[in-house]
Amino acid sequence: MEDDQWIFLSGEFVRKEEAKISVYDHGFLYGDGVFEGIRAYDGNIYRLNEHLVRLYESAKSIMLDIPYEFEAMKELVAETVRKNSLRDAYVRVVVSRGVGNLGLDPKSCGMAQVVVIAEELALFPKELYETGLEIVSVATRRNRPDVLSPKVKSLNYLNNILVKIEANLANVPEALMMNNEGYVAEGSGDNIFLVKNKALYTPPGYVGALEGITREAILEIAEEEGYTIKEEPFTRHDVYVADEVFLTGTAAEVIAVVKVDGRVINDGAPGVETEYITKCFRNKVATDGMQIYAQEAEIGG
Ligand code: PMP
Repeated sequence: MEDDQWIFLSGEFVRKEEAKISVYDHGFLYGDGVFEGIRAYDGNIYRLNEHLVRLYESAKSIMLDIPYEFEAMKELVAETVRKNSLRDAYVRVVVSRGVGNLGLDPKSCGMAQVVVIAEELALFPKELYETGLEIVSVATRRNRPDVLSPKVKSLNYLNNILVKIEANLANVPEALMMNNEGYVAEGSGDNIFLVKNKALYTPPGYVGALEGITREAILEIAEEEGYTIKEEPFTRHDVYVADEVFLTGTAAEVIAVVKVDGRVINDGAPGVETEYITKCFRNKVATDGMQIYAQEAEIGG
């Protein structure tokens, strides 16, 4: 796979070994840029519009001009998956401020740099989807929305990386961060849901989490399936005493959490509602996407 992987960079497809960025790119020097993580399931790109809306909104927020129209960017993502002959793929779109001088002023930068990478991905080992995750809550706080909005999916992921380092130190695959008031915000790269007495809880936007596209899909499922939805702030205590806990994200999909800070959730096994919602999510991703390969001709059609 590695040898024949094609990456879109500076307006063309290049081999992975040749996909190099200047050390003067402000994405590298300052984390100045935005990105998206997108997924294709069996030749269907899941919710590409929503991902690209978030990308363009993040870019607008930091006054970064993406040098492609929305529709052209959609095609670029599809083309990168096709170029790598993938049906199931994780796609990373990165838009950095581009090459400038050593000063942080973005005025010195030329055109934004657009990179698209498509590859196969499994975030957590497969068995963790059956056993569920053990996680911890960490001291690192989510950056405050009034300082750097978590809605901007920027290349500045240090906040999340510090959370990951704390998870590593605790020897667990993921961790939860609180906001400045101590309310649960999200994981390092995923949103959190609780199930309690058949109601589904997730922190509202103002608590300060990325507005996850998977989170949105789960809220839609919850509505379709008649769950009571409660988008309200909650604390670690609520997590400890929840009937079920799960995390959602493009890479993670839906994954059960069975232990938090040493407190066992749902007897230590993924719960029935989590399993049911996961099944509904799988149905959604199988049917709700942008087909990127020509359909095979129907027999007799
Ligand atoms: N929170 C953070 C900090 C993330 O990086 C991600 C992954 N993009 C998510 C939540 C989940 O968002 P989505 O479902 O759109 O992938």
